Amino acid sequence: MTAAPHVFRATGDGRRETNAATVLRTVLDHGPVARRTISDLSGLSPAAVSRQCTDLVGLGLVRELPELVASSGVGRPQIPVDLHTGESGGPVVGGVHIGVPGSTFGLLDLRGRLLARRALPHDGMAPGELPLRIVQGLRAFLGDAGRGRRLLGVGAALGGWVDPATGTAVRHDALGWHHRPLAAELARGLGGIEVRIDNHARAVAQSEILFGRPAARRSLVHLFIGNVVDAALGIAGVVHQGPGSGAGDVAHLPVPDSTVTCPCGRSGCLEATASNTAVAQTAVRRGIVPEPDAFLVVDAAAAGDRRADRLLRERARAVGRAAALLLDVLNPDLVVVTEHSSLVNPEYLEEIRGAAVDHSHVCQDPERIVSPHAGTAVIPVAAGTILLNPLFRSPLAAAQR
Ligand SMILES: [Zn+2]
Repeated sequence: MTAAPHVFRATGDGRRETNAATVLRTVLDHGPVARRTISDLSGLSPAAVSRQCTDLVGLGLVRELPELVASSGVGRPQIPVDLHTGESGGPVVGGVHIGVPGSTFGLLDLRGRLLARRALPHDGMAPGELPLRIVQGLRAFLGDAGRGRRLLGVGAALGGWVDPATGTAVRHDALGWHHRPLAAELARGLGGIEVRIDNHARAVAQSEILFGRPAARRSLVHLFIGNVVDAALGIAGVVHQGPGSGAGDVAHLPVPDSTVTCPCGRSGCLEATASNTAVAQTAVRRGIVPEPDAFLVVDAAAAGDRRADRLLRERARAVGRAAALLLDVLNPDLVVVTEHSSLVNPEYLEEIRGAAVDHSHVCQDPERIVSPHAGTAVIPVAAGTILLNPLFRSPLAAAQR
């Protein structure tokens, strides 16, 4: 890992920052692309595009390609530019998803592509010791996978109530964290590198907006089904935070037809019905797996266990009914569902889609319910996106830090 170059001098120029962000986003969407085409696509003058490209090349975020391409109109051939990505030795970001039984590390390039990943199991560890263990694991991972590359920072994603503005894990019941200054703790342990944190459902929504389907930039709801159940809403390219960043708690959304008792005292709540924990406990009760582990249930179904398959389809239908409620209330262009069985087997996504369309009053198009663009890499990609998103919004300021 090497230090960031400090080539950009001007600060506080809002228009210059906005123009740089526009150019960088255009290169993300269309690269490799000629400067003239960036001007045509963005509406910026050729002179402004040229100036921003010079800044972005100087910051190491964009590079000129060696080959010439014919320009869109008449005139000389143009030198195209593209993001300075992983294969060309460009900068990278780290990501960590902090789960309850374990954490996942990832290394991403500027296109949000996963270059490396590593798992860190930490089931049973005291929650107070966890940040130190994560720092140790992350240092080792970044030292191995990021060797010789310029590391721009680290994004950390976790469940529960997270306030990205203050870098605080406000409330994570399963880990017993309350008002924990997690970003500062991780940054200190990683030698002062920039660290940003966010709720994992919002992080996935952000990665869909930045790197996923074009429709995601119009509007999306992301539904995260893990040990916890969370949601996030993105409209016009912005993920909604809400006061105190507390938005997205759908754990107690009522699932029609579910009679499962919830710790909150009611019955039929989404998390109690459809979480990995709920599925794992049902699977043990039905004798499908010996220990409560939702991933074992998915493995059993893949190996041909009909009871495991039936249980996963029941869960998928419950998730689909929740998706129908969200579609009816918010009418987003897309509902993105992060749920393990549907990531590894599209038949369960079809089951979710079927239930959603059957129950929704506004959506008859099953294609509006999708899996995350990154597939099974969704979690580490989302974590790294927490650091990449501010870079694409304010590249000049972010790359200088
Ligand atoms: Zn409940």
